[in-house]
Amino acid sequence: MKAIAIVGSTGSIGQSALAVVDAHPDRLRVVGLAAGDNVERLAAQVARHHPGLVAMRTADACGRLRGHGLAADVTLAPPGRDGLVAVASHPDAEVVLFASSGTDSLEAVLAAIGCGKTIALANKEILVMAGGIVTEAARRRGVAILPVDSEHNAIHQCLHGRRPTEVKRLVLTASGGPFRGWTSDRLAAVTAADALRHPTWQMGRKITIDSATLMNKGLEVIEAHWLFDVPADRIDVVVHPQSVVHSMVELVDGSFIAQLGVTDMRLPIQYAFSYPDRWAAALPPLDLARAGTLEFSAPDTTAFPCLALAYRALRGAGSLPVVLNAANEEAVARFLDGRLAFRAIGRIIEATLDAHDASDVTSLAEVRRVDAWARDYSRELARGVELKV
Ligand code: MG
Repeated sequence: MKAIAIVGSTGSIGQSALAVVDAHPDRLRVVGLAAGDNVERLAAQVARHHPGLVAMRTADACGRLRGHGLAADVTLAPPGRDGLVAVASHPDAEVVLFASSGTDSLEAVLAAIGCGKTIALANKEILVMAGGIVTEAARRRGVAILPVDSEHNAIHQCLHGRRPTEVKRLVLTASGGPFRGWTSDRLAAVTAADALRHPTWQMGRKITIDSATLMNKGLEVIEAHWLFDVPADRIDVVVHPQSVVHSMVELVDGSFIAQLGVTDMRLPIQYAFSYPDRWAAALPPLDLARAGTLEFSAPDTTAFPCLALAYRALRGAGSLPVVLNAANEEAVARFLDGRLAFRAIGRIIEATLDAHDASDVTSLAEVRRVDAWARDYSRELARGVELKV
């Protein structure tokens, strides 16, 4: 039995992960769960999976969870980041899945690495913000970081057993989001409700907006750089609306190795939980004849500038991806609230990058300092922009 802890268990990935646990009751058990403030869902998960340790973001949420009548053998960790750290370093956990979005789990990821846990990583902002710090810590401790993001999971599978010298480039596929093929002019009036209708993937709100702006792919380029130690100029993005090919690796002889599968996150999650073994999965099979045509095209970085901004940040000093990520989170939150136009998201990020005095970041304290600056700056900018573009 492999013992699993999940940080972000009530979100989209967390729920899929627990479905994987349900499908393999003889192989997987849950020892720790951490969630934001969805008390009802966490209470139901605790009742079903019996983790020994749970955590929630706020004292208020902890109080309400207690109100649901936790069993005497379930420990409630302190609220906030300390609780995430406690769940991530649960002594029995072998694999810790980081399934939240945002940057709250950064300390918890480092704590899990410090304890020698295998990291299953869906939380891409962690590597965007602190990729150098996290991957170096994992290398020193001899800990594996198994990507759960579908593209990186695909590349992990394609690279299996290959030497770095055999690899020419990584090719990340992008669905193109709900506005694929739209011009910049047409994007002017897009609302959060429009952007939340993703054609192929069911995901959380933040990542769905990131998919619509192509920032999700930009963050994934940075994530791929850190996970696979490949420079920006050897990571490409190709738009593939069907999301059947989850990503590819081009080898030096011109051969492409691709991973194909259904668009269901249970597949990459199970890969991370079973690795290095493979288990049969209770998922509908990929029907290629039904999928029919697979299309590929170049991304439009004029209408969708966020992808180019991510490359710019990756090619620059270490603080730039921190700024990119923080400004993006702030702008997206404001767009979701209906207080910022769609096209303003990219402009806020670009203006924040322009204003930032770039430097290298080598400690968590520096990352947090740059992050706080970028959040303040972009929030202030967004207040001035409001719904105008
Ligand atoms: Mg992805």
